[in-house]
Amino acid sequence: MRLYADHNATSPLRPEAREAMLRALERGGNPSSVHAEGRRAKAMLEDAREELAVVLEVRAEAVTFTSGATEALHLAMHSARAMGFGPVFVSAAEHDAVWAQAGRLWPDFETIPVGPDVTPDLEALEARLSGVVGKPLVIAQAANNETGAVSPVGRLSHLARRAGGALLCDGVQAFGKLPVSAVAGYADWMVVSSHKIGGPQGAGALVTAPGVEVRSDRSGGGQERGARPGTENLPAISGFAAAAGVACSDDAVALFQALTGAERDAFEAALRAEAPDDIVILSEQAPRLSNTTCVALPGREAARQVMALDLAGAAVSAGSACSSGKVKASRVLGAAGWPPHVAGCAIRASFGWSSGPGDGARLAERYLKVAAQLAHRTVEKV
Ligand code: PLP
Repeated sequence: MRLYADHNATSPLRPEAREAMLRALERGGNPSSVHAEGRRAKAMLEDAREELAVVLEVRAEAVTFTSGATEALHLAMHSARAMGFGPVFVSAAEHDAVWAQAGRLWPDFETIPVGPDVTPDLEALEARLSGVVGKPLVIAQAANNETGAVSPVGRLSHLARRAGGALLCDGVQAFGKLPVSAVAGYADWMVVSSHKIGGPQGAGALVTAPGVEVRSDRSGGGQERGARPGTENLPAISGFAAAAGVACSDDAVALFQALTGAERDAFEAALRAEAPDDIVILSEQAPRLSNTTCVALPGREAARQVMALDLAGAAVSAGSACSSGKVKASRVLGAAGWPPHVAGCAIRASFGWSSGPGDGARLAERYLKVAAQLAHRTVEKV
């Protein structure tokens, strides 16, 4: 039987999301039209906004829907720049959706180093922020997609705001996996994505704190109060809100943590008992998402591990999934100081709402077989 352990890449569609999508598809209508069909579509859109806002503990006006987290992150960075924020400090553990765009907008941005546990070095940031001139912008994720390391968002926010600046937080991997209170109220711009919580692909949101603006760099219709021109993807947004409604309450998160934590712990326990001595479990000492494990088997390139596991019936990732379908070595683990024979040989398994009891143990069994088959090779660069 196939074993899906790649929920951090995308989580299967929840039935509640599917139903909401079908309702929206059947109703049709453009939310910007003034006739009855349009008004009904508009009402659906605003219901979805309200549902997401309630879950996120913000006002509905704070939610701007986008096509996903990448677009929301770019919109947030553009808004921060338009509001005159800078200098800019970006955590080295950021997803490429942030990393690449920050480099384009601010070629001179400063990197916040991350330690071997893949959490931002607060002392280094504090030192850089002391005496800083301007309105500093700190960009940091709430939780890392590769190892599950949880960032100290409250401290990051405190440091940024104390220096007269703001925090832009990529909350994609934390949403639905940590209580909303772990991030809510700390970020000036916060980004979430639908398909990581069992909603459909193609929807996400930018969530703003009071007084913080969303400024579009596009022109077009006045959708999303002018912040994001373009007809809204109503079926995807409806599915997103429905998924958030079932996945992100404190009770739902507690259940998720119990379910996925049991599988993740079973997987790691089996590896500790049976795997070669040189295996490394990354971010093991950091506060971590319950569903994520990142394991390096030195000398066995991550790409080979992922492919061998795929053939053995299990879906996992190496680094972050990228659109080319190729498996990339992890820039983030390299930045965290791990040498190539670790950073280039790490795979991530991530459990989720559709994981079943025994998945962790079954994955470990397949992984151990693969580990025994793969010959050791020298990995020189990542
Ligand atoms: N940020 C993080 C931490 C992610 O894991 C991802 C997806 O892999 C993204 C941003 C991009 O999300 P989306 O696919 O919704 O654009």
